[in-house]
Amino acid sequence: MLDVRCVPAFDDNYIWLPGLPGSGKVAIVDPGDAEPVLARLTGEALEPVAILITHHHGDHTGGICSLAQRYNIPVYGPARERIPGLTHPVSDGDTVVLEGLGLEFSVMETPGHTRGHACYVGHGVLFCGDTLFTAGCGRLFEGTPQQMHDSLNRISALPETTLVYCAHEYTAANLRFALVVEPDNADILARIDEVARRRARHEPTVPAPLLQELKTNPFLRCASPAVISAAERYAGHALADGAAVFATVRQWKDALD
Ligand code: ZN
Ligand code: FE
Repeated sequence: MLDVRCVPAFDDNYIWLPGLPGSGKVAIVDPGDAEPVLARLTGEALEPVAILITHHHGDHTGGICSLAQRYNIPVYGPARERIPGLTHPVSDGDTVVLEGLGLEFSVMETPGHTRGHACYVGHGVLFCGDTLFTAGCGRLFEGTPQQMHDSLNRISALPETTLVYCAHEYTAANLRFALVVEPDNADILARIDEVARRRARHEPTVPAPLLQELKTNPFLRCASPAVISAAERYAGHALADGAAVFATVRQWKDALD
């Protein structure tokens, strides 16, 4: 069983520290800022053994150099992207073996938010950076709607119990949009209440089980009749396939943000 510590950073980023319970060792996922990570590591006397990076954006990479220098640890990240301090470029299908931790993760390339975005899957969890968000998905900065749709379909095929660890706390705003798309979806209504209760207690709403995403995340529901008809109404015409539905729902959200 994995233990994943949460280090909040900036306004709404989460830096995740996976490790085995009681081992005192962790990996660091997407350290956009070194300072809160250092505070947590020293505060709990944790030993970091590796850094895992999902994509090149500064809010995921800004802390790499100072952490890697201080601890002299390897930095894994997508081979397709320019990432400062990267020592171990990874590609789709690779396995990242973290010997010091007794953990391994497989690499799934999920282009869309960025060209080379990587996710790390293993031990029942998914670190998905800015590809899948709880109740939403990342903006298409570099990839096409078809690429992002394909990436999200691959994530959807993981076991339903997989815990989704995304890199931002966006759930409440994402659910407001989900309800615009599917006003009659009872799972979305229930999740809005659950998220409001957790946020009122200042708790993270991440992770969430993939099953909950499949029921409430419009970007994973592009094959459901309710989302297809909402997207077609928004577009004003019939949509040919799931990628076209995805593209429309993404444009719809971008127009409201
Ligand atoms: Zn990003
Ligand atoms: Fe980000």
